[in-house]
Amino acid sequence: MRELTAGPRILLKRLRALMAEALEPQERLDHIVREIAQNMVAEVCSFYVLRSDEILELYATEGLNPQAVHLAQLRLGQGLVGTIAATARPLNLTDAQSHPAFTYLPETGEEVYNSFLGVPVLRAGRTMGVLVVQNRTKRAYREDELEALETTAMVLAEMVASGNLTRLARPGVELTNGRSVSFNGHAYNEGVGLGHVVLHEPRIVVTNLFNEDIEHEISRLDEAMGFLRLSIDDMLSRRDVAMEGEHRDVLEAYRMFAHDRGWMRRLEEAIRNGLTAEAAVEKVQSDTRARMMHLSDPYMRERLSDFDDLANRLMRQLMGYDPKSAAEMMAKDSIIVARSMGAAELLDYPRERVRGLVLEDGATTSHVVIVARAMGIPVVGQAKGVVALAENNDAIIIDGEDGRVHLRPQTDVEAAYAEKVRFRAKRQALYRELRDKPAVTKDGKSIALLMNGGLIVDLPQLKESGADGVGLFRTELQFMVASTFPRSGQQEKLYRAVLEAAGDKPVTFRTLDIGGDKVLPYFRSNAHEENPAMGWRAIRLALDRPGLMRTQLRALLKAAGGRELRIMLPMVTEVAEVRATREIIEREVNYLTRFDYQPPCNLKIGAMIEVPSLLWQLDELMNEVDFASVGSNDLFQFIMAVDRGNAQIADRFDQLSPAFLRVLLQIAEAGKRHNKPVTLCGEMAGKPLTAMMLIGLGFRSISMSAAAIGPVKNMLLSLDAAALNAILAELVHRPDANGSIRENLVRFANEQQIPL
Ligand code: PEP
Ligand code: MG
Repeated sequence: MRELTAGPRILLKRLRALMAEALEPQERLDHIVREIAQNMVAEVCSFYVLRSDEILELYATEGLNPQAVHLAQLRLGQGLVGTIAATARPLNLTDAQSHPAFTYLPETGEEVYNSFLGVPVLRAGRTMGVLVVQNRTKRAYREDELEALETTAMVLAEMVASGNLTRLARPGVELTNGRSVSFNGHAYNEGVGLGHVVLHEPRIVVTNLFNEDIEHEISRLDEAMGFLRLSIDDMLSRRDVAMEGEHRDVLEAYRMFAHDRGWMRRLEEAIRNGLTAEAAVEKVQSDTRARMMHLSDPYMRERLSDFDDLANRLMRQLMGYDPKSAAEMMAKDSIIVARSMGAAELLDYPRERVRGLVLEDGATTSHVVIVARAMGIPVVGQAKGVVALAENNDAIIIDGEDGRVHLRPQTDVEAAYAEKVRFRAKRQALYRELRDKPAVTKDGKSIALLMNGGLIVDLPQLKESGADGVGLFRTELQFMVASTFPRSGQQEKLYRAVLEAAGDKPVTFRTLDIGGDKVLPYFRSNAHEENPAMGWRAIRLALDRPGLMRTQLRALLKAAGGRELRIMLPMVTEVAEVRATREIIEREVNYLTRFDYQPPCNLKIGAMIEVPSLLWQLDELMNEVDFASVGSNDLFQFIMAVDRGNAQIADRFDQLSPAFLRVLLQIAEAGKRHNKPVTLCGEMAGKPLTAMMLIGLGFRSISMSAAAIGPVKNMLLSLDAAALNAILAELVHRPDANGSIRENLVRFANEQQIPL
């Protein structure tokens, strides 16, 4: 066995020349495997491509039987090649045939080769194929040979990704990057969108692989690394992270990686082997990921994702990637695909270009979903695996009705959806016809159908949906879109615009509900919270920081001069909190009157019922407030002890369970007893079936996303509320009703021909 003679740098140079030559794809591949074999003094070099049906097909070989090309096939996970593809890890074997995974393919004639070195062909973390060299002698391949093979694998990855090999595939067979896939997720907001993928955290794809000048690339790397280190130090010295906590731990881990000599050494080595600085970062990242991916220690897995994030930052730095300009270049029919996302991040996208949101996580009441609903964007959550398979700009269809996502859809699926869009347009036309029709049940009960909002973009919906007013204006959304605290004048301007758009319809402003998962990037508490949903949030935070609340109250009072102002307090736990806030409000009214501002002609203060403790204070509460509103998202979360943002359990319990229905009934009855209006403004108000149940329980006012008003009105026009009330009164108290309430309600709706 000869020593390695040429080295990876020469090999890369040869490959680069081959890429520039005018060759047919198969010819080019044949030349490439020959070059690799020669350079690495191997008797065999073979390249397998991973197809969309998870079969690895031999695409080119030097040394094995040439007749086997495009015929030899292995399933993902089968044989040595399948194992490499499935694990994304290299295999370096002195005696391949004694490996338990070895599978003999008679058509290849490979039985005479003993040693085997195979590496995954990776691009942006995805396996595109496998590259193998083999020798007759029993030998162990050296570390630098493994390096060389991994580096050349990047060139092949680029060839697969560029679509150059598609022509070599047999009819009906697709390569990984072209196949259609569908995902069964959960429908979180209805609507159908046809468009193109925008990955929320785009993989940076390096296309410039070969370097011209090693020293130049090393100095580019040094410079980018210097910037990266500085930016981490900068973040660490900021006052809001200077204390202990998870955020600081992550940054400390980043700092550790950014100063890691081993990382730097591996990067420099990859550059010396012929790669550009960015290609070197990608190569080392892929290797590290492949080596660490299978660790089960959660701490180490966290560190791997920290490292990934850091490597991406370094790559962005090297490639001058600017997320702002990426947003500007977004297609007009963008469908955002993300693992998970904060509500504020969604608001960073230009609304007019977003046709849908696909999440791998998420839950129906998580805030990003609520914001998407407010923006009228179809949402599918729990679409597991979509991020790994989607590429920026892939065609995609999101179906927010049945929770399906079709990536790179076939033409017949696309045609079926175009039809569905037309059908939906017809249904929307029906809802528009109902717009000015009063929301009165078949037996004459008048129901106020209000809409939830929070942004200026919501306002046109007030007219278009025919809502009777705004039942919940989430004032924190303005704060979440801003990069600093909105000033009093800006707040006042928004509130005035809302009141003007509403005309004589009522608007209920909820005071800031920040904290929990509604994080303002420019306002963090120093204390790390184990359970932020039950932490320093909403009215608790407002009472501790009265300055913040006073600014908001003043803006509300000024905006509503001379007209009715309804203020609602979130997350009330004790009646005393309402009393304390009322005092602050009264003081503000006096202050403004002294300065000749016109006060609101009618000031109403209400509380949200979303913390269970209020259920045992309902009489005191009703005496203290002018109105109440059930925040069923939070109330359900706390009653059932089920985190609304945790996808694994968020849908575990049914809101139509006897326990929760009894709670709702109790609240509706307390309102009646005290003659105080009670609304329900959680997500359950917006689904025809649950809305029907609420009316049956006695609610006469419900608030929902604007898009839900048409379907809910369509339902209630055929509803006999008294008949349903009689059925519910019995069901709610039946001890064995668990699980059957939903079925009973669906049966009732079918019998009565109520459209759900
Ligand atoms: C609720 O909790 O039901 C609610 C309406 O408030 P939010 O969803 O904003 O917490
Ligand atoms: Mg709430």
